[in-house]
Amino acid sequence: MYDLIVIGGGAAGMSAGIYAARGNLKTVIYEKTNFGGELAQIIHIANYPGYDGRGDELALKMRQQAEAAGVEFDYGECREVRVSGKVFDLTIDERTVRARSVLIATGNEPRRLEYELDVPVSYCSLCDAPLVKGKNIAVIGGGDSAVQEAIELSHIAKQVTIISRSKLRASPKLQSRALELPNLQIRENNETTKEELEDFEHVFVFIGHLPATKFLPEDVLAADGTVMTGAGVKELSSSLDMLGLDDFARRSDHETLIPGLFAAGDVRFGAVRQVVAAAADGAAAALEIMHYLDATG
Ligand code: NAP
Repeated sequence: MYDLIVIGGGAAGMSAGIYAARGNLKTVIYEKTNFGGELAQIIHIANYPGYDGRGDELALKMRQQAEAAGVEFDYGECREVRVSGKVFDLTIDERTVRARSVLIATGNEPRRLEYELDVPVSYCSLCDAPLVKGKNIAVIGGGDSAVQEAIELSHIAKQVTIISRSKLRASPKLQSRALELPNLQIRENNETTKEELEDFEHVFVFIGHLPATKFLPEDVLAADGTVMTGAGVKELSSSLDMLGLDDFARRSDHETLIPGLFAAGDVRFGAVRQVVAAAADGAAAALEIMHYLDATG
């Protein structure tokens, strides 16, 4: 029996693990594929205080710090969360694991193209940048991710074309940096066809994300698939009177409708989707979990 099972080994999950283990909670973090989550796929992080470098290196430091604090790490996909009284039974692959509290920190999965291309398609520039040395590539998307990753890829590829179906929504600073690069072109308001994309040698796709919450009961999810917790529910309160406000007012910011089931990071309703915010959110959730476990014995 664990005090806390964390589902998801990204910035939120690892930060929560560090706090929980230092607070003497017997804690395990499960990760489906690779520890670090989205953080481990970012080529360059320049806005995390005290750190300026590769995402996977920051993720490794977080993991080492969590391990040193006493967190256990394991691989496995969470398929179901069941609660009985104050005990949670989680199906991780084929196993059942038991805990007194659970933190959902699964973040997001990249939204995928709805069609196949005959040229290589990537959703992670850190993983696949070495494949595009000297090539003519396209980057689909117009948000911060697309423009930032296109800038990084322009240092490796011969020519980069950002293709955005509407006006770019990336920050003005990122857009200015992109415009200064001689081998980077931007096509805005452009509905490029599959055939046109196949003229490029490699296509990178950064068209947003979907929350990784399919394994959770529907009543803890908001309409967009993120996990509703105290703060999110309070924001919605004016239009959702039937949820019973008094009850929610007593809940912590990171707790869901199910006592003992918490969420942190990008998977949580209303997240600002920044690494530093996810790390802070994980820490706050861990403190609330310690409080919950103290109160419930
Ligand atoms: P995003 O801001 O949601 O942008 C998604 C982009 O993909 C938009 O240009 C959107 O076009 C386009 N898109 C969506 N579905 C599409 C489809 N089916 N086909 C073609 N294009 C499609 O996503 P993001 O760039 O991943 O950013 C997510 C969040 O992370 C944001 O809050 C962002 O600020 C943050 N972030 C921050 C940094 C940083 O601080 N340096 C870096 C990366 C991300 P429409 O506009 O037409 O919908």
